[in-house]
Amino acid sequence: MGPARPKLSLAALVLAGTAAFALAGHFAATRFIHDQQARQLDELTGVVLRRAEFAVDFAAASLDDLAGRGLASCDPASLQAVRLHVYQRSAVKDVRIVNPDGSVICSAYSETLEFDKGWVDRADMLGSHDTRLLLFRVEQFGGDALGVLRDIGDKKALVAILGINASLFDIMPAELRAHGEVLLALKNGARLGEFKLDADKPLSHPVDFEKSSQRYPLRTVIRIDRTVLSHWSSELYWPAMAVALALGALFGLLLSRSRRMEGPVADLDRALERGEFRPYFQPIFDLKTGQIRGCEILARWLREDGSIVPPMNFIPLAESSGRIEAMTWQILGRALADLQSLLRADKEFKLSLNVVPKHLLGADFVETLRSTVAAAKVSARQIVVEVTERDELDLARAAAVVGELRSYGFRVAIDDVGVGHSGLSRLKELGANTIKIDKFFVDTITVDASTTTIVEMLVALARDFHMTVIAEGVESQDQVRALISCGVEEGQGYLVAPPLPFAKFNELMALRRAAIAAVAPAGNAALVA
Ligand code: C2E
Ligand code: CA
Ligand code: CA
Repeated sequence: MGPARPKLSLAALVLAGTAAFALAGHFAATRFIHDQQARQLDELTGVVLRRAEFAVDFAAASLDDLAGRGLASCDPASLQAVRLHVYQRSAVKDVRIVNPDGSVICSAYSETLEFDKGWVDRADMLGSHDTRLLLFRVEQFGGDALGVLRDIGDKKALVAILGINASLFDIMPAELRAHGEVLLALKNGARLGEFKLDADKPLSHPVDFEKSSQRYPLRTVIRIDRTVLSHWSSELYWPAMAVALALGALFGLLLSRSRRMEGPVADLDRALERGEFRPYFQPIFDLKTGQIRGCEILARWLREDGSIVPPMNFIPLAESSGRIEAMTWQILGRALADLQSLLRADKEFKLSLNVVPKHLLGADFVETLRSTVAAAKVSARQIVVEVTERDELDLARAAAVVGELRSYGFRVAIDDVGVGHSGLSRLKELGANTIKIDKFFVDTITVDASTTTIVEMLVALARDFHMTVIAEGVESQDQVRALISCGVEEGQGYLVAPPLPFAKFNELMALRRAAIAAVAPAGNAALVA
């Protein structure tokens, strides 16, 4: 009878434990799904708002350009030049020259005046962060448009009429499309556009996700039927439950080994000591010729047990624990050693490295970069510093560092453009050489017309600011074609290669060189003949 009792209590313990995990798992999974939905819808609302801000940035930059060229005038030659400008920018429907009170003097396409249902007085236009810019609704017979007014001195103003294309905010996931709507409005409530599948069917239990622009008097709302949310992405329930259970089990396991438990920061320190952070290299190529023009260094943590940890699993912790600087220098040092001969043989080859804003703005960044690059006998011109605009950036301080970097010959790229915080006009202030268009846009460029419009806008602005453009995450030839037709020059993505360890990257470069050498003699012969 003796041994039966411990067995029984062990079973009871296991049962109780499992029940506790299951219960916790249920709450965690339900909570997780709910949070996930809210986050997703919140993000979508943000995307719509950023797209609208993009359009206004684009209009403002277009008007600046016209004013800078002295074209704010009604004479036939100026109007002709303005028409060409409008023609080249599909998002802009018309440009008008107006009096300080807002009344129209003339229009690039005078016929479009007939489509107006009315025109707002200046007093009813809404101010924005930039005090020379006013926004207002232009009611037209074919649907409403957005007017963007830019003061030119105090005698005149220019107005761009922006078509609010439904595809600009057609972003709802398929499951929600029929039960939701997307609205874009001015802060005074004037609606600029809405996207709704079934216009006559009101939502029975609407929930609103709303965002307002910091820079412009714009507001976006995504309205969803609450009843749909209970079905949407509920397929996550069981996987989330499984994760919760596994985590519980893991927790128990870790607890039993608590003797050996140490913090993850201690892990980072040990890895730094052992030099476990390594650069992987991903080629950046010319979209038209496929020629490799450079590469981006992407960090990997090669652990003692042979596993490879991706950057998203350690960069945030490295950043918050103050280890990111040491890690970045370790990776760059290694990359320079690996690529030294290639960089010195081909002076056009560029090496890009990712630097978090905190590191860029920290003391000694420029000095340490200079000495590290100089010690490897590599030219500063070949090094590109990639700064992400995903998180808020202190623009004035960053611009000063960028200026200093560029004065030494380094190049600077803005990473993840399109998903970050800064508007297009702020991109100019940073003074970078290159913008990298986020994979988010490349993914949809072949399926979504609004993406094409946005990429075209980015390229047009980049040209105005003398910046080059790289597209990230290029996976197919269709994307290459679409990007080329938008005017993008360079790309990076699995189509050519994923991030590779040095030996593999070196092999790829050797293969490319051999292929070029095989073609070259014929080329030379042709030249001689
Ligand atoms: P990122 O700088 O935007 O790098 C591009 C990411 O997209 C890389 O992910 C790359 O592997 C991935 N990628 C490139 N082409 C394709 C493609 O065709 N398809 C798909 N699906 N993905 C593609 P990775 O290596 O996981 O890096 C993620 C992020 O981690 C980087 O995004 C960067 O923000 C950060 N990171 C990586 N290395 C470093 C580093 O050394 N320092 C810092 N501060 N951040 C780093
Ligand atoms: Ca990057
Ligand atoms: Ca990126």
